[in-house]
Amino acid sequence: MMIVTVTMNPSIDIAYPLADFKLDTVNRCEAARKTAGGKGLNVSRILHQLDEPLRATGLLGGALGEFIKRNLAEAGIAYTFSEIAQETRNCIAILHNGEQTEILESGPTVSEAELVNFHHILKDLLKEATVLAISGSLPKGAPTDFYNQLLDMAHDKHIPVVLDTSGASLLAAVQHAHQPYLIKPNAEEVASLLGISEITNLTELKNSLQSELLREIPVIVVSLGSDGALVKAGEKIYKVDIPKIEVKNPVGSGDSTVAGLVSGIYHKQPLTDYVKKAMVLGMLNAQEATTGYVNLANYDNFYRQIKVSEVES
Ligand code: ATP
Repeated sequence: MMIVTVTMNPSIDIAYPLADFKLDTVNRCEAARKTAGGKGLNVSRILHQLDEPLRATGLLGGALGEFIKRNLAEAGIAYTFSEIAQETRNCIAILHNGEQTEILESGPTVSEAELVNFHHILKDLLKEATVLAISGSLPKGAPTDFYNQLLDMAHDKHIPVVLDTSGASLLAAVQHAHQPYLIKPNAEEVASLLGISEITNLTELKNSLQSELLREIPVIVVSLGSDGALVKAGEKIYKVDIPKIEVKNPVGSGDSTVAGLVSGIYHKQPLTDYVKKAMVLGMLNAQEATTGYVNLANYDNFYRQIKVSEVES
């Protein structure tokens, strides 16, 4: 049995580190990095580092799609993607003067037939799945409630779904009859779900998690960057405190956290154990320059320092 990860709108993530970035002239880059990206693929990479059995799926097209397959194969990550006619996207991050300027292509438009083909592939993979992890945005052409169709497929097979997305597709999923087992929004995404402008403190966040809209979702992990997380499990709410650490690049820490949650659910670990695992993996990702890579040598040291305490509701 295995974990299946879904990335419907993957990308090739291109990083251009520049000593100085000048507009309206030529910038030369000596050390460009190109990797298979998209949130679900980051989750896959961390799960693979943890030695979890997994298969990555989603949509890939064109020469850039081939690049992603090669990249995954080189990393030793198993995959079965559905082929689409249009080209997979590039996402560019220009790293300059300690800042990051991003250019994100919206990506290909997919057809109904391509989505149907993906359904067939996923249906097959779910025969061997224990957990389904769905991450990231939907491509153009997919309906807003597309993830609800995947939730239905997983529900038929009694497979828990960890869903990490935002905006309209997250709202559709939490309102759906067959809800995800776990969602991992950040505070901004919780505010957007509830239609409020912002959440400014923990009490507001706690109250938001108790709203009617989120009542039936078994586990909600709100990650709070360097402040750890607030977790709702059934009627209970927990604050997770993490130690202060040196950070290099926190991009993808959310995906690394999701990998920890998925791994814990796969191994049927108790909630407090897998939340700690998730926090440690987020922290370890933040300590690396490379997104979706963790140095597990520091795992135990961080794990011991994480405190999970129940909050009065
Ligand atoms: P992203 O979209 O960049 O992946 P996110 O908003 O989904 O991020 P965060 O809450 O920023 O996710 O990070 C997830 C987890 O990673 C945190 O709960 C924490 O454990 C760890 N983490 C992230 N940033 C930091 C930091 N600056 N210091 C310590 N730990 C961090």
